[in-house]
Amino acid sequence: MKVDIEPGSGFCFGVENAVNIAEEALRDGETVYCLGEIVHNDIEVARLTGLGLQTITYDEFERLHDCKVLVRAHGEPPSTYAKARENNITVIDATCPIVRSMQEKIRQVAELSREERGQIVIYGKEGHAEVIGLMGAAGPRGILITGKEDLGRIDFTKPVFLFSQTTKSKVQYEVVAEIIRLKMEQMAADHPGNTLKVHNTICRQVSGREPRLREFSRKHDVIIFVSGRQSSNGRMLFEVCQQENSRCHFISAPEELREEWFRDASNAGVCGATSTPKWLIQKVAEIVESF
Ligand code: SF4
Repeated sequence: MKVDIEPGSGFCFGVENAVNIAEEALRDGETVYCLGEIVHNDIEVARLTGLGLQTITYDEFERLHDCKVLVRAHGEPPSTYAKARENNITVIDATCPIVRSMQEKIRQVAELSREERGQIVIYGKEGHAEVIGLMGAAGPRGILITGKEDLGRIDFTKPVFLFSQTTKSKVQYEVVAEIIRLKMEQMAADHPGNTLKVHNTICRQVSGREPRLREFSRKHDVIIFVSGRQSSNGRMLFEVCQQENSRCHFISAPEELREEWFRDASNAGVCGATSTPKWLIQKVAEIVESF
């Protein structure tokens, strides 16, 4: 059977950068701790653990002193850096430059809008590491919304500065932004200062992947989507593939492949999330080819 790999599959730039920084830090044999899993992919985490990277929880981090801790691509709130300074921890900062510049922008906006009581609204997944970092940058006027159901948290009579977690769906972000815009318009006559500024913060590495995956899914009889189950970006992109092709299967490891999925198929496509390593996608493609 003919098997194609979606050309854009593999780590995004930010995750690749973080993995390279981790490998470099591990080269001299010293213990390096990683605050949370470096990537939402168990197989890649196991590979790096084999090289000496030790994943720790936030509770464990609080108890560490005099060591090296890697901050992954998602970034961290200011409180993490403060704790590291307090405990003489050397931070190896692998925050994705795109996330870092968004944190910086949020800090600036929060500072500049202090007098007018501007609200920094973050559209993202509750508990996601990147969102925790962004909320930390926003400070006390930060408001998290996970979807339309949380819009009641916003005061539509005051200015709103809207940001999105980098890996959210562009379409859903636009829908949420439009609802906020309409609600604010309704109140504008009585509250002329209630401006809305929508910041375009969806990462292009993700938004560009969506249309390409749609086309790729339509062109193949069967689609195998490889991703860690905890990856929110993986869930989102898998849904995109499913919308275009009903013979779409989500796997997190090659052992989950089933030969019967390919019955009567003449071709198959293999793709994955921004947190899925290319080597794993290639391995899956080779197995499918052998069926
Ligand atoms: S998805 Fe984009 S913003 Fe997020 S880590 Fe990857 S490159 Fe950076």
